[in-house]
Amino acid sequence: MTEETTPHETPSAPTAPALEAARDTKVKVAMIGLCGCWGCTLSFLDMDERLLPLLTKISIHRSSLTDIKRITERCAIGFIEGGVANEDNIETLRHFRDHCDILISVGACAVWGGVPAMRNVFELTDCLSEAYVNSPTAVPGVKPVIPSHPDIPRLTTKVYPCHEVVHMDYFIPGCPPDADIIFAVLDDLIAGRPVTLPRSLNHYD
Ligand code: SF4
Repeated sequence: MTEETTPHETPSAPTAPALEAARDTKVKVAMIGLCGCWGCTLSFLDMDERLLPLLTKISIHRSSLTDIKRITERCAIGFIEGGVANEDNIETLRHFRDHCDILISVGACAVWGGVPAMRNVFELTDCLSEAYVNSPTAVPGVKPVIPSHPDIPRLTTKVYPCHEVVHMDYFIPGCPPDADIIFAVLDDLIAGRPVTLPRSLNHYD
């Protein structure tokens, strides 16, 4: 990746015209994993047999599932997994905000930083030293190097929840959120109904 080329600008193969025409009638969805583990995306796949009828109503554009690497047209829904841990995440999230009508924070990492935010109680330099200099897996006799290259996105000093970077419209908690909840939210949005999450999802009393 050069300085001028960002992930959402990575060239992708053109889509067949017939497939493109069929997609036009559906609700367009884009998905991205920022600083997470892809577990939330796997939970999306856990909708199992409900995926087939769902895919008659939605078309998935940029996502790791389609391997489409850029948003080529405005999408109705942006599905965001993971928090913001580097400058590339910031740029990608802003790109989604600019090109999606509705953004959903999916999972603990997107909602509040999740496991990666455990590093927030330490200085970034200490985290890098622990990972690359003082690591128990460092090779004896080899000079430790903290990776640094223009192609490697610079880490932010802290890991941020998505809503601290751009406005997010909906939040689905959980690590990962249950597939039933993801389906319910998408089904409500596609049908134009108000999104109603079960109280048990946000209350622990
Ligand atoms: S919320 Fe959990 S499952 Fe989702 S990306 Fe974060 S760690 Fe992975």
